[in-house]
Amino acid sequence: MGEKIRIGFYALTSCYGCQLQFAMMDEILKLLDKASIECWFMVERDSDEDREVDIAFIEGSVSTEEEVELVRKIRKKAKIVIAVGSCAVHGGVQSWDGRPLEELWKTVYGDGKVKFQPKKAEPVENYIKVDYRIYGCPPEKRDFIYTIGTLLIGSWPEDIDYPVCLECRLKGNTCILIETGEPCLGPVTRAGCDARCPSYGIACIGCRGAIGYDVAYFDSLARTLKETGLTKEEILERMRIFNAHNPKLEEMVEKIFEEGE
Ligand code: SF4
Ligand code: SF4
Ligand code: SF4
Repeated sequence: MGEKIRIGFYALTSCYGCQLQFAMMDEILKLLDKASIECWFMVERDSDEDREVDIAFIEGSVSTEEEVELVRKIRKKAKIVIAVGSCAVHGGVQSWDGRPLEELWKTVYGDGKVKFQPKKAEPVENYIKVDYRIYGCPPEKRDFIYTIGTLLIGSWPEDIDYPVCLECRLKGNTCILIETGEPCLGPVTRAGCDARCPSYGIACIGCRGAIGYDVAYFDSLARTLKETGLTKEEILERMRIFNAHNPKLEEMVEKIFEEGE
């Protein structure tokens, strides 16, 4: 066997759920034959953020000035950078509340002092080039296996470019958006979870993020949700949970409410 692939797993502002999901996989033990963990504080005591790696997994949103520096450092030391989970890929639920930073800060910390320089949460890609993305909050275990497996054999992971609806209908589920008016975001959300929530009769909240801001028809879905009786604010609030950085979201939803009754 050739040299081992060097891996780093780094956490920004997050709940650590993505790396926990990864760390809990039995398959990770098999990975150790082929990879050396250079930095992953959750699983390896001998971790060092300054080491060079072949593959860097980054979890969490960039939410402090220190994290801006960290992602730049990781990019310099890594051959491949993979954004892991909705926080890293889309800014996460911590981007949901659109109020100014100062107002959010007061709400959470009051006059408390902290050792870091806060900023509004942003996707990693706003600061450095990201080579691949693993979607979800948290991602499915098979997302990790597929991504690392393809890279280990010298190939590369491909994005899923169809919505949750496709998996939902293939499972034979009743559409809860059409049949009972549940505010399901499946039509604009990237598949890969096997329509986990609608399969239990629960509306998708879009945790895997938009299929792509340029191809996800938030306006069309907003029209359907409007017909179920939701207000513009309710629709926007729901769509923003995992799509707060979609630059055209407000415009697309506004347009539907300007159409008149
Ligand atoms: S994407 Fe979800 S599970 Fe992963 S760190 Fe962010 S909040 Fe946690
Ligand atoms: S229930 Fe949701 S995910 Fe399933 S088909 Fe309907 S809109 Fe799509
Ligand atoms: S159905 Fe929607 S909210 Fe549920 S896991 Fe899939 S993408 Fe996430």
